[in-house]
Amino acid sequence: MRLLIRGGRVVDPGQGLDAPRDVLIEDGRVAGLLDPGRGAGETAVIEAAGRVVCPGLIDMHVHLREPGQEYKETIATGTAAAVAGGYTAVACMPNTIPVNDNRSVTEYILQQARAAGLARVWPVAAMTVGSEGRALCEYADLLEAGAVAVSDDGRPVADPQIMRRVLEYARMVGLPAITHAEDPSLSAGGCMNEGRTSTWLGLAGIPAAAEETAVFRDVTLAGLTGAALHVAHVSTAGSVEIVRRAKAAGYRVTAETAPHYFTLTEEAVVGYRTEAKMNPPLRAARDRDAIRAGLADRTLDAVATDHAPHSILEKDVEFDRAAFGIVGLETGLALTLDLVREGVVDLLRAVEILSTAPARILGLPGGSLTPGGPADVTIIDLDRPWVVKGEDFKSLGRNTPFEGRAMTGRAVMTLVGGRVVHNLTA
Ligand SMILES: [Zn+2]
Repeated sequence: MRLLIRGGRVVDPGQGLDAPRDVLIEDGRVAGLLDPGRGAGETAVIEAAGRVVCPGLIDMHVHLREPGQEYKETIATGTAAAVAGGYTAVACMPNTIPVNDNRSVTEYILQQARAAGLARVWPVAAMTVGSEGRALCEYADLLEAGAVAVSDDGRPVADPQIMRRVLEYARMVGLPAITHAEDPSLSAGGCMNEGRTSTWLGLAGIPAAAEETAVFRDVTLAGLTGAALHVAHVSTAGSVEIVRRAKAAGYRVTAETAPHYFTLTEEAVVGYRTEAKMNPPLRAARDRDAIRAGLADRTLDAVATDHAPHSILEKDVEFDRAAFGIVGLETGLALTLDLVREGVVDLLRAVEILSTAPARILGLPGGSLTPGGPADVTIIDLDRPWVVKGEDFKSLGRNTPFEGRAMTGRAVMTLVGGRVVHNLTA
């Protein structure tokens, strides 16, 4: 089966390419990037004139809620949301019920993902049994079962000695360790960023220091152990600076942020809007600006959405009682394209942070349209206007702070392994 994506602007950071090319696909793989008009003898053609054709987006931090909380999301609905948002692959965090701390859960997730047949799913296994921060899981076994990283996301590892052992074991088996950097004693009881807005609203705050002390601890331990450490959802200016220094010191440290941290500030909470409640919390304007600068100067490697669907049961309650988290898979691309329009990053860099970097950090196939690689492709209409409506989401989660927001730019087609799994062009 041969397929030609014709007439598009191919943006592939892996090859340093931003130019008109036709993408030839054969048997689910990229067969070649051809000069425009050179392809012949194809059995099928996708017209992409006026559109961007790029390696499929990879969201390295999502919560798919299955097994255990299928009323919030399933692997089928979560991956439907992914491909609708232009993502051809997602890495799912282990805080399911039961926790993904053993190979039977990892294998179950992969089996459900195969059955859904949409985006690729890469399971992230727990660092510690039950994510309780005590006994280490069997990383070698989890790696063999298909885990691509370890993390106790949502439940930070409080004990630094345990974290050291986690990093030593992860290094030994060759898995990256993803830290949810939070000092639980500093954040305890908080529900939004600590500052003037939290004082004014009368809400208990989570200081930036709760994140920054944990980021500092973990990058220091990465230096000690030589492990590959990835810092999840960076939200503060101080964390950006700590990661910057760790990289300058030559540590194997990478970091991601999420679209809400470079788009919104703590002001979004005003009115006790639970759809703006997440952990880490939305911060101050200077933090948002530092995160933009960190994406531009490569201190921050990737944008992940931290897609965290909840039902109205968890969100339509008092602010301090509401669950942390927002959905992100169907808004992440458009919010990142805003950075391009605002001149923070160019399009090549935007594709890098949404695709190439996550693939590199997790050691995944894809992230580039190099011949021989999987034909995971996102076709983007940069100018397509649309309005965020939670009720239109493929995700079961409706918890977005961007409801009603006018967006520009959308994935109009998503191909996984050469197969069209999302199509707005028909
Ligand atoms: Zn987290």
